[in-house]
Amino acid sequence: MTKFFHNCTLVLPDQLLANGALLVDAGKISWLGLEPDAPKVTNAEKIDCSGHYLAPGFIDVHAHGGGGGSFMNPVAEDYAKGFRMHLEHGVTSLTPTPIVHSADEMKQHVAAVRGMAGRENLPHFLGFFLEGPYMADDPAKGKELATESEFAKADPALYQAIVTAAEGTIVRWMAAPELPGVLEFGRAIRKLGIIPCIGHSQATFTEVKAAKLAGFSSVIHLYSVMSTVTRQGGFRRGGVVEAALLLDDLDVEIIADGCHLPPELISLAVKCIGYDRLMLVSDATSLAGYPDGEYEMEIFGKTMKIILEDGVSKSPDRKFFAGSIASGDRLVRTVCQQAGQPLWAAVRMLTRNPAHHLGLSGRKGELVIGADADLVLLDDAIRTQAVFLSGRQVI
Ligand SMILES: [Zn+2]
Repeated sequence: MTKFFHNCTLVLPDQLLANGALLVDAGKISWLGLEPDAPKVTNAEKIDCSGHYLAPGFIDVHAHGGGGGSFMNPVAEDYAKGFRMHLEHGVTSLTPTPIVHSADEMKQHVAAVRGMAGRENLPHFLGFFLEGPYMADDPAKGKELATESEFAKADPALYQAIVTAAEGTIVRWMAAPELPGVLEFGRAIRKLGIIPCIGHSQATFTEVKAAKLAGFSSVIHLYSVMSTVTRQGGFRRGGVVEAALLLDDLDVEIIADGCHLPPELISLAVKCIGYDRLMLVSDATSLAGYPDGEYEMEIFGKTMKIILEDGVSKSPDRKFFAGSIASGDRLVRTVCQQAGQPLWAAVRMLTRNPAHHLGLSGRKGELVIGADADLVLLDDAIRTQAVFLSGRQVI
């Protein structure tokens, strides 16, 4: 049955269209424009949008959980809880982000996601984003890590076993390109259609350029756990931050919660990277969606006390953040209300850009004829009022 969404402002990739309307047939957008111009369809189900903004559903390409469910735990119930919490904030598609160290763990995550089959009203699973295990977090150690951790070197036997175990479900994969074997890892996964991403890295600007040649095309959570300007023998050199800001053809994530990045760093990223390649991500943990307070969270097998306050999760001594608790609509709100960006631009960075990044242009992330009718209704305060998956209301 045709659905007729009307009495709304359409959030298009480059503008807002007031007095808008949109038709959905068989779960896909079949027409959009000004309401008075809409074709008359007899028997269409009318959906009054109450004057709200009608935007494409959000696509979060980096999230570790939410609503008490952790994507670090390969359990269907955990995945379902996290998916549901993000759906409530307008996210209609996710690439959940576990950290996987073995083929066996990968198999368990695939089984957990498959275990959600048949559960109604959850965002679309677009594949996994694997963050690690090839990380170089400590600037003081850098490449010295190679001698300390089995994961400070990319071993083809391991990553090929993980790829096989994933059965085609990995869509993006992060590694520190300066670690031994990681450029070959990038080339190998790129050939398989997996997007190699740079992150948790102490690479120099030059090393990032080499990584690009090896197929790395994205930088995750700009400014978090990555190199910036350093000096060697007096000479300054750029790091991953400068490469992400300067090189034109990298898709760059920002955790746009107003905490990990203050408004001025969001604005700087927008100014340098522009509206085509910047992607808003939550990087949310399982505590996303919880009110302020003290909680216990399991991190890498250890139970840690976590404080939620000021819109972010903190270590018990309040010296560090312990992950984000943001979700879809809050990211858009922050970029509009704190960093002064227009609504269409903020929405584009959480819809069209991640869809393009994942090779789904025209199918998801945009109000365009033929695209999936995954939609979110936002009020003037940019809070989610309703969510639709393939045209069907789920929130
Ligand atoms: Zn993360």
